[in-house]
Parts: sequence; structure tokens; C-alpha cells
Amino acid sequence: MHEFSIASGLVEKLLEFAEENPEKKIVEVRVAIGEFTQVEEEQLRFCYDSIITEMPIAGSRLVIERVPGKVACPHCSYSGSPKYWEGILPGVPLITLQCPGCGKAAVATEGEECSVRSIRFKPSQPLSVPRDRPAAL
Ligand SMILES: [Zn+2]
Repeated sequence: MHEFSIASGLVEKLLEFAEENPEKKIVEVRVAIGEFTQVEEEQLRFCYDSIITEMPIAGSRLVIERVPGKVACPHCSYSGSPKYWEGILPGVPLITLQCPGCGKAAVATEGEECSVRSIRFKPSQPLSVPRDRPAAL
């Protein structure tokens, strides 16, 4: 249920945004998902769509941006693409933290993120007020 908890965390943030900005309707959310998180795109999208059906942000689109993993090795100073293990699951190479250079444990330098990149919205009502006017309380 990895994807489900990510999706609900995301929705929580968006609802906060929607509450603070009632004049904006969220139409699209772009998230960056690192390769190391092992999140399945389809799963995440499905969870997201099923969570938001009854919410003010219903109908918004989730766009997933894949962030490829990168590792750095403290043993041989390798840095770059990670090593994959083939053949554990057929057709699905598994990303690992094993150094492709020396085979020891490397650390992830990129690809662990799971964050909101941007939110696209449109005004809930057609606006006729100047943009920079402070909101009336
Ligand atoms: Zn190494």
C-alpha cells in the first residue's frame, strides 16, 4: 500500500492548497517520483483518482515525472547510473544500491524524491478584479 499512502499524503497537501486559495481550482498536479521509491505509476494514479472523487480537487490530473536513480560509491568513487539486477522478476530489472564499479554498497544521490513539482490551476470564477489587489477578508 506504498502508493496509497503517497497518494493520500499528496491529496492532503493539495487540499491545504485549495483551502488557502479558494479562488484557484486545481486542474493538474505534477509530481516527481524517484526511481528508488519503486512506486508504480499506474497504482499511484489509480489511488489518487479514487481518493479525490468526493473532494474539491476532483477531476484534477496527476502527472508523474520519473526521476532516474543515480548512485555514488564511497569505496571506489564511482558515480552515475545504478546497477540493476535482472531476472528476479521476469522483464523487470530491479534497481539496487550495489556499486556497478566495485560491487560494494553505494549510496543513492538522486531518485529518492517523491515531491510535488508544480500545481496548475485556473480561477474558479472568471476574474474581473485586478490580480495584485489584496484579497478582502
Ligand atoms: Zn564502488
